[in-house]
Formats: sequence, structure tokens, C-alpha cells
Amino acid sequence: MAICYYNGKYAPIAECSLPVTDLVIQRGVGTFESIRVYEGRTFAMAQHLERLAGSTEGAGIKAAEIIAKLPEIIREGLARPEVKGFDGIVKPYITGGDVNDNGTFPHPRFFVVFDENIHKPTAEEMKNGIALEPNRVARPYPLIKSTNYLFGFIPLAKTSKTNFESLYITPEGEITEAMSSNFFLCKEGKIITAPVGRVLKGVTRDIILTLARENGFTVEERCPREEELAQADEAFITGSVKEILPVVRVGSQKIGSGRPGPAVQRLQHIFLQNMPKWLDK
Ligand SMILES: *Cc1c(COP(=O)(O)O)cnc(C)c1O
Repeated sequence: MAICYYNGKYAPIAECSLPVTDLVIQRGVGTFESIRVYEGRTFAMAQHLERLAGSTEGAGIKAAEIIAKLPEIIREGLARPEVKGFDGIVKPYITGGDVNDNGTFPHPRFFVVFDENIHKPTAEEMKNGIALEPNRVARPYPLIKSTNYLFGFIPLAKTSKTNFESLYITPEGEITEAMSSNFFLCKEGKIITAPVGRVLKGVTRDIILTLARENGFTVEERCPREEELAQADEAFITGSVKEILPVVRVGSQKIGSGRPGPAVQRLQHIFLQNMPKWLDK
């Protein structure tokens, strides 16, 4: 079951539609968040809404008043019988609206999707790991979580192998992040991941780094180099829906033994144990 808050009311999602004049449709101008819900409770909502405020401001969309109303709209939505107590996702979207004033968007629209149907990795992907396809560009404006994923999808269509997502690697060989996940390499006992600013400030990324440091892992915040893929023991990606997912291949490069390793398995375990700390009341 999925419902959507739009134009002041909650309705079944199929009844909600945007005008074709909206710049999110015409030009891809929009920002959003995916907030996990476990048994009716949001996970790290404040961190997501703070990031949404930053993305939206960075995109020139004037939406401070909308963002201030979201916690209440989300709380009320989650209390509705259609979704009460569900495991799922809440996705607030802010669109460019119909007006472009010199690269600013003064009249945004917004809607919030409450959906039980999340595209979680399969049990097989969790157990055996996934592959990523290199995407040899830098994601522009990395601190903005934009609705436009077109340039992340393009490399996926150009390979016959099955890939979970694409992986942004700059023309200089720096690995930044995956299409909708943060990327981590484990090498010589260290966890290496790109610094915020070069990549999106992933909510799961921040939590994993906190937990990793608390549990004695050494963390290096720098972009891993493409050549390091061959020397890595393990790799993984993180995101609100996939949580922590092992990566066993990037393009034609096998990672480590080609099987998920002990570091990622330990982090998955630590994450599961500690995740209630970030569940909202
Ligand atoms: C959503 C997203 C992430 C992961 O962020 P989470 O807050 O952990 O869900 C990372 N990179 C990109 C490009 C994203 O769109």
C-alpha cells in the first residue's frame, strides 16, 4: 500500500499527479530524500531533513517553509491506517515548480510518498555481494541529492553483465560514490571512503563511520584510487534502503577473493545491533 501527501491531503498514490509544466518534469529540477521506516518509526529523520534543506537551497529552490512543515506531515502520515506500523520508506520530494527566475525557483511544489514497497537488495545480493559498473564522470554538485539520476543510469545500459549500480570515478581515477550509495574500500586493515563535499553526506555513511571508529576500525576519509581496487580486500556500499551491501566486482576487476569478507560482515552485524539508537520516537 502506498499513499501520498500532495496539495494538502493524503491520498492513494495513484490519485496524485503533477502538472506537466513542473520543472522537475521538464528540466529535472528537484530534490528528495529516502527515509527508512522500521515498524512505523522513522530512521534518522532529522539528518535527512537537514540534508534536504541543504540540497534544496543548493539547487536554488526556495522551500524553507515547506521543509519546516515536513516533520508534522510525516508524523501524521505515519499514523494513518493505510501505513500504520509499516516497514517501508518515506520520500519527501521538492520540485522546481513552474517558475524559473534566473536559476532560482520561487514557487516549488512538494509531495511526500509513504510506500511499503521498497527495492531492498535480495537475500542473494546480501549474501554474495553485488557488482558496480564504472561511470567515468564526476557527479556534479555532490552535496545535492537531486531527482535526476539519468547520468548514473547511462553506463548500466552499456554492459551485458548485471550491475547493481554505477560507480562514479573521475577522469583522474578518483573513486567518489555510487549512483545512489556511498562507497567504501577495505585495504590493509583500513576503511577508505571519500570525504563529504566530494560526495553526498550519506546518513548511512555517517552512522557506519561512527560505528566503525567506535569498534576499533581505522577510517581514512579520502577518495580511493581506481588502482587500489586491485589491492583491496573488500568493498561495500551504504544507503538508507540497502544499509550495507558487499561489493565483489567493479567493472572487470574482482575485489579481494570475490566473496564478501569479514570486515563487511562485522559492520553489518554492528549496524543491526546499534540501529535502534537512530530510530525516532
Ligand atoms: C541517497 C544517496 C546516497 C546514500 O545516502 P543515505 O543517506 O545513506 O541514504 C549516497 N550517494 C548518492 C548519490 C545518493 O543519492
